[in-house]
Amino acid sequence: MRETRSTCPYCGVGCGVVIESKGEQITGVRGDPDHPANFGRLCSKGSTLHLTASAPITQHARLLFPMRRAHRDAAPQPLSWNEAMTLATDRFEQAIRTHGPDAVGFYLSGQLLTEDYYVFNKLAKALIGTNNVDTNSRLCMSSAVAGYKATLGADAPPACYDDLAHARTLFITGANTAWAHPILFRRIEDAKRADPRLRIIVADPRRTDTAAAADLHLPLLPGSDVALYHGLLHLMLAEGWLDRDYIEAHTQGFEALRVRVAEFTPRETSRLTGLTEPALLQAAAWFAGLDAPGEGRSPTLSLYCQGLNQSASGTAKNAALINLHLATGQIGRAGAGPFSLTGQPNAMGGREVGGLSNLLPAHRDLANPAHRAEMAAFWGVPRIPEQPGKSAVEMFKAAAEGQIKALWIACTNPAQSMPDQALVREALRRCDFVVVQEAFSTTATAAFADLLLPATTWGEKEGTVTNSERRISRVRRAVAAPGQARHDWHIATELAQRLEGRLRPGEMPLFDYSTPEQVWNEHRETTRGRDLDITGLSYALLDSAGPQQWPLPAGQASGRARLYEDGVFPTEDGRARFFDTPFEPVAEPRDVRHPFSLNTGRLRDQWHGMSRTGNLGRLFGQAPEPTVDLHPHELQRLGLQPGDLVHVTSRRGSIVLPAAADEGLGPMQAYIAMHWGEEFVSGRSARGEPLAGVNALTTPRYCPRSKQPELKHCAVKLLKAELP
Ligand code: SF4
Repeated sequence: MRETRSTCPYCGVGCGVVIESKGEQITGVRGDPDHPANFGRLCSKGSTLHLTASAPITQHARLLFPMRRAHRDAAPQPLSWNEAMTLATDRFEQAIRTHGPDAVGFYLSGQLLTEDYYVFNKLAKALIGTNNVDTNSRLCMSSAVAGYKATLGADAPPACYDDLAHARTLFITGANTAWAHPILFRRIEDAKRADPRLRIIVADPRRTDTAAAADLHLPLLPGSDVALYHGLLHLMLAEGWLDRDYIEAHTQGFEALRVRVAEFTPRETSRLTGLTEPALLQAAAWFAGLDAPGEGRSPTLSLYCQGLNQSASGTAKNAALINLHLATGQIGRAGAGPFSLTGQPNAMGGREVGGLSNLLPAHRDLANPAHRAEMAAFWGVPRIPEQPGKSAVEMFKAAAEGQIKALWIACTNPAQSMPDQALVREALRRCDFVVVQEAFSTTATAAFADLLLPATTWGEKEGTVTNSERRISRVRRAVAAPGQARHDWHIATELAQRLEGRLRPGEMPLFDYSTPEQVWNEHRETTRGRDLDITGLSYALLDSAGPQQWPLPAGQASGRARLYEDGVFPTEDGRARFFDTPFEPVAEPRDVRHPFSLNTGRLRDQWHGMSRTGNLGRLFGQAPEPTVDLHPHELQRLGLQPGDLVHVTSRRGSIVLPAAADEGLGPMQAYIAMHWGEEFVSGRSARGEPLAGVNALTTPRYCPRSKQPELKHCAVKLLKAELP
């Protein structure tokens, strides 16, 4: 039996795993006792990874050979890798030469490794000359990126997991950590056991398992987060709980925010959020950390995730929360700071290589001419195009309008996960040539592919990922790739090398990689002198010293746990910025025709569109079937019993699923888990086309700054379905 240290491929906690294998079969998995994210623990998903890798149905569902469809209604037929890559190169070259570089797009995934991401990003921006590279991480954390940059000056979570053990107050807002980041929640429980003085506040419209463990649950009205944070700041200001010295020494822009929050009186905040004034006062006192006389200011750590990010005002929500930390000096010290949790295992790595349509490597901005010039020089090309690329929703909208002719989708399933499925499916139908690079043949998106390319997956790949606390871990291969599956970086490199021969013949090759380590070494060089400098980090150091946090510049032996301890921020004057933002209600408010607020989210035991977790019966123990959850009073009012089938209808589509009772929901609120695809939830678009899953309903409206769509809220109506 062999043992291989690697990283869990599910959530952003980034737990270390030890893979047990025999021959080319993965036989077991256990938590890596030496990994600083989990110290040997695994949750229900991580601890069953070996079963998802070995289940017979998984083998059946694996895409093992390149496959081509002669036309969209035809069954896919196998072809050789050479034929497949020739076809792909021909069709991408044709689109570029006929319609220009912006006629092609690449839609990637926070589950790709950093090396995979790097090659795709360089292929698009340096070789083809388009910034049409985006990722499902746009649906996950782009508001956190925009929030950090607007306030602290860089996309860098300043805290670390160890801070859980130092905090006196945890402010968990827009995150169901107990289900979405289970091992982190175990650490929160440890911290509470170790120090019963730890206070946990949870701001969430639902009484989730996380909220049930809180000392104070703030069941705010959906979308009212900014009003809550402004209201808390108003209270702290009135009570004299701000850290005036910190504001004076390390920030700018407080005066405008002070004027802004003047109107968020306790009464007005209570009206906007639905929270009681005493609850608001309690939360403000605990957050400020001055309520234990003689002990100084106790540290407050905020944890937040999709409840803030997946919003049409996602940037404002992130930044308004960070305002609270800056105003109280709750940052840059043990146990304090605004700590955004990433949903996916490598959403951070994608940010680091600049694998989004508005970014360039090492936290450079596409909009910055100096940054474009730096990367053009580094990559050895005349220029990086100035024209911003299309973000996720924009890319599919452009394809639906016929502007994008060739689309390359890697390791993600937009035909299930993107909002407004009618739009996305129209885009996939209309696009002339769709390549899907995937491990599994059964995703909804695979059904739209002209060309299917088999990719390796967890247990078969080599590379790196970065977790929520900026910690880079190795992903290692335990078994050989099945069939003819190839690594994602390798497929991207081959496309690049073939296109290079046609688009810039005779010039210096840009993609001379034969191992992922070569890609890593080039990537880390882009970070030299930047805030995330990792020039001191090599595969050899990761092998000998284990996972490391960035920054880790050359000459240092280990990374930095916490940022901004000196109070200096990566802005022009070294000061953090207060973000003066109005409170905006949700993009699609409830009305008479659509009177319910629909929230979408995760189950504890499923992952994304279930490509992997859906193959294992035991992971259906928590939730055997999809449901639309409502408070028992709402069920009664609608004349429904649990289990009755219900039409859930938004302005874009309608789905049918059984009703279930959840006392944790408020009045006029409904909740549906996002994992269930077409095998489980069928429906129709407003025009009558067949659709599936909760994203038949969701809105494509997005935050103007981060371009992250509002997956957490849309207005729906509910009607009991008549049985035939
Ligand atoms: Fe994997 Fe996340 Fe569970 Fe850790 S908490 S084992 S990273 S799914």
